[in-house]
Amino acid sequence: MLMNLSKVLGENHNQVKEEVTVESQFFAFDGDQYPLIANTPLALEIEYAGESKIKVKAKGDFEIIAACDRCLEDTPINVTVEADKLIDVAAPEEDEIIKKDGYCLDVERLVKNELFIGWPTKIVCKEDCQGLCGTCGQNLNVGECDCEDTGLDPRMSVIRDLFKEV
Ligand SMILES: [Zn+2]
Ligand SMILES: [Zn+2]
Repeated sequence: MLMNLSKVLGENHNQVKEEVTVESQFFAFDGDQYPLIANTPLALEIEYAGESKIKVKAKGDFEIIAACDRCLEDTPINVTVEADKLIDVAAPEEDEIIKKDGYCLDVERLVKNELFIGWPTKIVCKEDCQGLCGTCGQNLNVGECDCEDTGLDPRMSVIRDLFKEV
């Protein structure tokens, strides 16, 4: 949603304090899409901070589907957004989150940027996730594959073959 900032930037510099709904179905980072499956309303506080600046506080919890680092299976993760930012609405570098046309705050864009900051460094579907076989790609949580011999010295297989012939 776009939050109009005219109240905050106008003569009376009114504070905005609202719970807003984040409407994104997913968030996209680096070409990958991460579905949003649950979230609390975003508690948003915006106040005038002099000149063309505003102070934005935003807080909310998001449950998102991401890939397990080991087995790549869909894994729900919780990311808390807790932003406290000073934004110069006239600065070109803020163009992503401040729409200059009418001065609106792009709430989804703000959340996306903040999610990126709060993103977990490690995502595992479960602590003992076995990951994927490095040879055939089999998900080892689901079942074993036939690649167990690959770690062995190839010369050993010659000896094994000799035994087979006996
Ligand atoms: Zn996993
Ligand atoms: Zn394998």
